[in-house]
Amino acid sequence: MSKPEAEDSKLTGQVAIVTGGGRGIGRVIAQTLSRAGAKLAVTARSRDQLDETVHLIQQQGGQAISFALDVTDQLAVEQMVSETARQLGPVDLLVNNAGIAGEEGPVWEVTAADWWQVLEVNLRGPFLCARAVLPGMVARQRGRIINIASNAGIRPSAGYSGYSVSKAALLRLTDCLAEMTMTHGISVFAISPGLVRTAMTQDMPAWKDVPDSDWVPVERASELCMFLATGKADRLSGRYLHVLDDITELVQRADEILANDLYALRLRK
Ligand code: NDP
Repeated sequence: MSKPEAEDSKLTGQVAIVTGGGRGIGRVIAQTLSRAGAKLAVTARSRDQLDETVHLIQQQGGQAISFALDVTDQLAVEQMVSETARQLGPVDLLVNNAGIAGEEGPVWEVTAADWWQVLEVNLRGPFLCARAVLPGMVARQRGRIINIASNAGIRPSAGYSGYSVSKAALLRLTDCLAEMTMTHGISVFAISPGLVRTAMTQDMPAWKDVPDSDWVPVERASELCMFLATGKADRLSGRYLHVLDDITELVQRADEILANDLYALRLRK
C-alpha cells in the first residue's frame, strides 16, 4: 500500500486554519501544512499549548498566529476567521480538528451536560467554523475543509455514545457541505486519523490495553491532510477517508466510488 507523499506538492501562499492545533493530531497537521509553505492560524483553549505550536512552526521557518478560544463560541470563531484573513490573507483551508471524547459509560450513567458538550464541540464547533470561512471561499470560488472524524462515526460505541453520535453527524455534515459547495469550487472531506496516542486517547479507559501494533502514527493523518490540501482528491469531496486507505488508489477509483456512492454514510438495503 502506497502512502500519500507529504512533500511532493507545496502550499506556498495558502492560508490554513487548524482548530485544536495546540497539541496532538492538530499540532502535527499544522506543522506539516506549514512545512509545505502554508501560513497557519491555530486555535484551542489552552494559551500555553498554542504558544508552543506557534514556536515550533516558527522554529521550522514557518508563519503562524494563534487564537485562544472555545470552538463552540460563535462570536469568537467569527472574529478568529476575520482576523486570520486580515493578518494572513483569505482562508484556503480549514481543518476542523478540535474534539473531545466525553465521559465513558452507558447513557444512564454519564451526565447529560457532558454528553451534550461532546456534540457542542465535535459538531457545533465544525459547523460554526465552516459557516465562518465559507462566505469567503464561495466568493473566491475556491477552498477546502477537512473534518477530523472517526470510525466511531460509522459504528456504534456503547462506551462513548456521545462521541459516536457526534462523529456520525460530522460525516453527514461533511456530505451536506460537499453537496452545497460543489458548484462553488470548494471541496469538503471527512477523515479518520486511526487510533493515535494523544492526550485524548491516553485518558480513555477503552484504549488502556491496546497492543502497540494497533496504534497509528500521527503522521498518517498529517500526510493525508497534505494530500487533500493539494487538491489531488477533490473529486472525492464529501467522502469519508481513513488514513489506512490507499488515497492514491482511491483517487484512481473515483469514477467507481462516485457511481456506487461509496465511502459515505448511507443506508444499504
Ligand atoms: P487532543 O486532546 O490531543 O487534542 C484536542 C485538541 O482540541 C486540543 O488542542 C484541545 O485544546 C482542542 N479542543 C478541545 N476542546 C476544544 C474546544 N471546546 N474549543 C477549542 N479547542 C478545543 O486530541 P486528539 O489530537 O487525539 O484529537 C484530535 C481530533 O482527532 C479530535 O477531533 C478527535 O475526535 C479526532 N480523533 C482522534 C483519534 C485518536 O486516536 N487520537 C481517533 C479518531 C479521531 P484545549 O483543550 O486547550 O481546548
